[in-house]
Amino acid sequence: MKAARLFAPGDLRLVEAEVPVPGPGEALVAIMAYAPYGTDVSTYLNKGGRYVSAYPVGIGADFSGIVRGLGPGVEGIAEGDRVSALALDHCGTCAHCTSGRQNLCLDPAFKTLVRQTCCEELVLVRARKLAVLPDAVAFEDAAMLAGPVDALNAFGKMGLGAGDRVAIVGVGAMGHGAIALARALGIEAVAIGGSGRRAQIAHDLGAAQVFPIAAHGEDVRERVLAAFPGGFAAIMETTASAWGVTQAFALAAPGGRIALTGGGALPVGNWDIVDRELAIFGVRAGSGQAEVLDLIAQGKLSLQPSISRRFTLEEAPEAFALLAGAGARDIGRVIISIGAR
Ligand SMILES: [Zn+2]
Repeated sequence: MKAARLFAPGDLRLVEAEVPVPGPGEALVAIMAYAPYGTDVSTYLNKGGRYVSAYPVGIGADFSGIVRGLGPGVEGIAEGDRVSALALDHCGTCAHCTSGRQNLCLDPAFKTLVRQTCCEELVLVRARKLAVLPDAVAFEDAAMLAGPVDALNAFGKMGLGAGDRVAIVGVGAMGHGAIALARALGIEAVAIGGSGRRAQIAHDLGAAQVFPIAAHGEDVRERVLAAFPGGFAAIMETTASAWGVTQAFALAAPGGRIALTGGGALPVGNWDIVDRELAIFGVRAGSGQAEVLDLIAQGKLSLQPSISRRFTLEEAPEAFALLAGAGARDIGRVIISIGAR
């Protein structure tokens, strides 16, 4: 089978690989669609040396596909099922897993980010990670679940519901997913960031207002606070950057809730948190794959307006060069179509 393998930062190539054989609890899935996420671009570049410890290595985590084989002991999934999977793995039996918090699995074996790879024709994945797609959900849509799943977790932590307003800092794949989910749930989204077409895509996805930046790292606090005096009661930070975290804390109203999804030094001290009674939530991906699929099936949620380009598996190196390059600010989601339809 054909598979994309990373040989060094920025050096992605197509190779021939052996078709894997599913072991106990595993499923062999023919990948249909893969939409690279922010984490994948960081892996491609091995940003900060955090992502890859040995080459060559596969890439990608979230995908949609068709089950082609099952190992012993798999229940609830059948050959031929249309499925999706996200990056995080979990044990399936601990107190958190059995109460719907698989993203916080208590089994130490799953503390680190164990990811399958999926920029290849066939992949082995633990069957318990798979969600069966409703008939109405297309493979492309099912390959873009990570953003709305992360946002569903963030919005839940912040207690948001229909009629509320949330500021979304960042308009990359996660930010776009959060805006689309907000619209689906009747939450007003105000998007902050984007120096290129990504800001326009935020509009297209249903953001009530967008504050683009003129250049990377521009401080927009004054401009946003002029339009929303007093700041926001709820903010989701999606860039995992010092810029994004700084904007998020500056835009929080007294009593505000802030959802963080990644790094970036905190620009506040203990007393600032106390004096403003800020509530800070860590969001480690999410567990709401089935809920998001339902919203797509009902026609309430669509990330289709965010798709900018489609590539074949053979063109994956070109797709990643684009996503890691200066032109990425004008690119929304990229779909790598792998299996035959
Ligand atoms: Zn668990």
